Formats: sequence, structure tokens, C-alpha cells
Amino acid sequence: MMNDNERGFDWIAEVSHELRLPLANIKLLVETLLNGALEEPATARRMLTRADEEVTRLQHLVSDLLSHEKVNSLMGTRSAVDAGTAVALALETARPLAQARGIEIVLELEDGVVYSADPEQIQQILINLLENAIKFTDAGGHVTVRAGRSPLTLEVEDDGIGMSESEIPKIFERFYRVDRSKTRGSTGLGLTIVRHIVELHGAKIQVFSKEGQGSRFTITFAAPEKAT
Ligand code: ADP
Repeated sequence: MMNDNERGFDWIAEVSHELRLPLANIKLLVETLLNGALEEPATARRMLTRADEEVTRLQHLVSDLLSHEKVNSLMGTRSAVDAGTAVALALETARPLAQARGIEIVLELEDGVVYSADPEQIQQILINLLENAIKFTDAGGHVTVRAGRSPLTLEVEDDGIGMSESEIPKIFERFYRVDRSKTRGSTGLGLTIVRHIVELHGAKIQVFSKEGQGSRFTITFAAPEKAT
């Protein structure tokens, strides 16, 4: 979990660094337009499209930064979260993306799986893991969501591009993303947020991945206390 030291200058420096590149790109595009490129409609359109992409990146970044701060500043209220209901809700967001990319979603949910968790934060975990699985899998691939009772688990697996062994330890770092994903609307904050939420719940997250074969993210919650 983040400590006070980490929240200081390093954190500000990292965020500034992330903001600098898209801002510099937008400035360059606008200046080029003002200096004459505006007179050539085809060029102007291309440049505005690029600027629009950079602005979208900035929007993602700011929204991820806000979630990151929110998760760090409060532990939401816990309630009984039914796995089937939570997955169905998350799929309302993720399914259109899967359909657009030609990816099949497979559900393997045991009956009666219930997490003691903050429902909103479970949504954040599921949506982040699902969006990544969909983003890093090519058309025709599969994304499987599993929920198990004993041990109490929540799992998202894909048969996509996978990761190399050296990459796996880095993916939970703030702003980490491999170059190839830069064009896929990445901010590198998603998994940092997921890990924080998992830790807040006293759970653990494990990653199994092989380059070219796919990835599996498994969250294991502490066993529920038995009612007496
Ligand atoms: P983002 O998705 O915004 O880049 P994340 O923190 O969610 O940020 O992920 C960090 C990096 O981890 C990704 O850029 C990607 O390189 C890698 N990654 C995450 N999930 C997967 C996955 N399911 N398959 C392959 N690589 C992944």
C-alpha cells in the first residue's frame, strides 16, 4: 500500500511526467495548425484527429488519477456482494467492448459465491481486469470470468497476447505499460488501483501469464467467517 513518503514529490513528479508528453504533442499540433497547416484541409483534419486522441488520453489519465485518489483515501462500506450479480453488472460495461473487438465472454460462476466487499470497488476491479483482458486479446479470443466458493476467488482469464516473465512483476507499478499498449488508450494505472482495492479487502492477487498464450488474474479472499 502507498505510504506517506510515496505520496510526496515522487508521486507529483511521476504525474507531471505523464502529463507532459500529451500536452507537448497537443501544443505542437496547435502551433503547426496556426502556422499555416490550417490552410490545407486534409493536413488540418489529420492533425486535429491526433490532437483529439491526445485529449482522450488525458481524460483517461485524469479519471484514473481520481479513482486512484479515491481508493486511497477511503475504505468503502462492506456488504455481501453476490458474484453473479457483480459480474452481470460489470459485463454491462465490458460486453460492448468485447463485441466490438470480436471476443467471446465465458462465465464459469459457482453458485452462492458471496464476497464481503465494497460493491463499487468490486465493480472497479472487475471492469479493469475485463477491459485489460479484452484489450490484450485479438479478435476470436476468449475471456473467462470465474468465481469460486472454496477458496473464495474471483478470476479473469484471457487467451490473448500474454506477458513475458520479466514484465509480470512490473505491471502493478504506477504508470507501467509496455510500449505496444500505448495506442490502446492505456494509462498504466488500472492495475495499481486493482491492487490497492485487493489489499484494502485483505485479499491477494496472483498473475499467471505466458507470452502469446494469455493471462490469468486470480483474487483470493479470506474465507468468510462462519455464522454461529
Ligand atoms: P493500462 O491497461 O491502462 O495500460 P494497467 O495498469 O491496467 O494499465 O496495465 C498495465 C500493463 O500490464 C498493460 O499496459 C499491459 O502491458 C499489461 N497487462 C495488463 N493486463 C494484461 C492482460 N490481460 N494481458 C496482457 N497484458 C496485460
